[in-house]
Amino acid sequence: MTLINAPRGTRDILPSESWKWAYIIKTASQTMQDFGFSEIHIPIFEHTELFSRGVGETTDIVEKEMYTFNDRGGRSITLRPEATAGVMRCALENNLCVQGASAKLWSWGPMFRHERPQKGRYRQFYQIDAECLGISNAMADVEVISLSLELFRRLGLRNLEVVINSVGCEKCRPVYRQKLVDYFSAHKDSLCETCLDRLSRNPLRILDCKKEQCGLVADGAPDIFDSLCDECREHFAQVRAGLERLGFSYRLDKRLVRGLDYYTKTAYEILSGDLGAQNAVAGGGRYDNLSSAIGGGKVPGVGFACGVDRIMLVMEEQGCSFGQVPKTRVYCAALDEESRASVQVLTHELRKAGISAECDTSGRGFKAQMKNAGACDFACIIGQSERENNSVAVKDMKAGVQENVPVNEAVNYLRDRL
Ligand code: AMP
Repeated sequence: MTLINAPRGTRDILPSESWKWAYIIKTASQTMQDFGFSEIHIPIFEHTELFSRGVGETTDIVEKEMYTFNDRGGRSITLRPEATAGVMRCALENNLCVQGASAKLWSWGPMFRHERPQKGRYRQFYQIDAECLGISNAMADVEVISLSLELFRRLGLRNLEVVINSVGCEKCRPVYRQKLVDYFSAHKDSLCETCLDRLSRNPLRILDCKKEQCGLVADGAPDIFDSLCDECREHFAQVRAGLERLGFSYRLDKRLVRGLDYYTKTAYEILSGDLGAQNAVAGGGRYDNLSSAIGGGKVPGVGFACGVDRIMLVMEEQGCSFGQVPKTRVYCAALDEESRASVQVLTHELRKAGISAECDTSGRGFKAQMKNAGACDFACIIGQSERENNSVAVKDMKAGVQENVPVNEAVNYLRDRL
C-alpha cells in the first residue's frame, strides 16, 4: 500500500520550525496586548453565506477558492478563507459593539483557499488578524497600519514597503465603477479572458490583474482619486497625515483594490522585497459596509491580516532572530537498568519544582543517554552507589565538573545553579 501524503498545498510544521512559529505568535500576542487588542477565537468553519455575502459573490475567493461542502445536516459550510467576516459576525452575535461601543480584537489560525500552490502560497495557510470595530475615524486606520508595522519591527523584518489607496464608499464607488466600465470597454481587445469577464461583474479587479497586457491598459485607467466623494477624500487625507506624523513612509497605488469586496475607503498592503511573486506580507483596510452585508447594523471597521507562512520565509531569508532555541535544562540518566525507576522519580520531582527535565524512556544505554544530556545544562546521574547513598551525581555539562548531592537536596541545588 502506498503511504498517504498530506494534501497538495498543505504542509506539516515540524519541530525544527514550530518553535519559530511560536516565537512569531508570542511576539504578535505581546504587540497586540501593548496596543490594547484582546484575543478571540472563532470557528474555522462558518455558514457559506457569511463569506458569499461578506467577502462578495464576484470575488476570486468566493467564486473559485473556497472549500465548501454540505455537512451531514445538509447545510452549506465553508472552511474560512479569511478572518474578518468571522470576527465581525462574532462581534455582532455577541453584542460587542452595541450603542457605539468599540472592540479591538485579534486572532490567529489557519485559513483555507483553493489556490495554485507556489512559494509563499498554500491552501492551508496561517494568518494573524487584527480588527478594530465600531470606529469610523481615520485615526483607527492609522492605528491598525501602525500596529502591523510595529509587529514587523519587533520581528526584525526589513525591506518592507507600505502601499495604500482609497477604494471609495457606496456613494462614490458606483460613479468610479461606471468610469472604469466605459474606459475598459473601449480597450476590450487588450484585456485577458478573466478581465473581460470582470468587466461586467467586478471591473475594479481589472486594476490589479497581474497580466502585463491588462496592466498596460490599467495604467491609463481613470484615477480613483478624481472620483472620491468629499468624505472619502478627507478621510484619506487624514490617514496619510496620520501616517506621516508617525514617521511612516508609504507609496500611493491607485491600482491597489485588493481581492475582497468589503473594503471601503482605506486599502493597504505591506510588501516585502524578499518574497518573489507572492510578496504581500500583510493586507488590510477599512470595511464600513461588511456589517450590514452580513445582516448586522452599522458597525464600521478597519483591520489587517498578515501571513505567518510568509513572515517565516522573510525572517529566514533575512536571518532574523527567533529568540532562544527551546531546550530542556536537565537530563536525568540511569547508569544501570535498576536505576531507571529512581531516575524517573527524580525527573518528576524536578518538573514539579518547575525545572524542565527529561529522562530516557526507550531503554537506551548510558552512553546514548549522556549524548542527549549534552544538549542540556546539567545531567543528574543515578547508578548503584547513588541509590545506596540516596544521592545523585549532578554534572555541569558546560564546565564538565560533577558533584554528589543528596537526592532530597537535588531540586534546591539545581535551582540555585540554573
Ligand atoms: P488577504 O486575506 O488575501 O488580504 O491576505 C492577507 C495576507 O495573508 C497576505 O498578505 C499574505 O501574507 C497572506 N496570505 C494570503 N493568501 C495566502 C496563501 N494562499 N498562502 C499563504 N499566505 C497567504
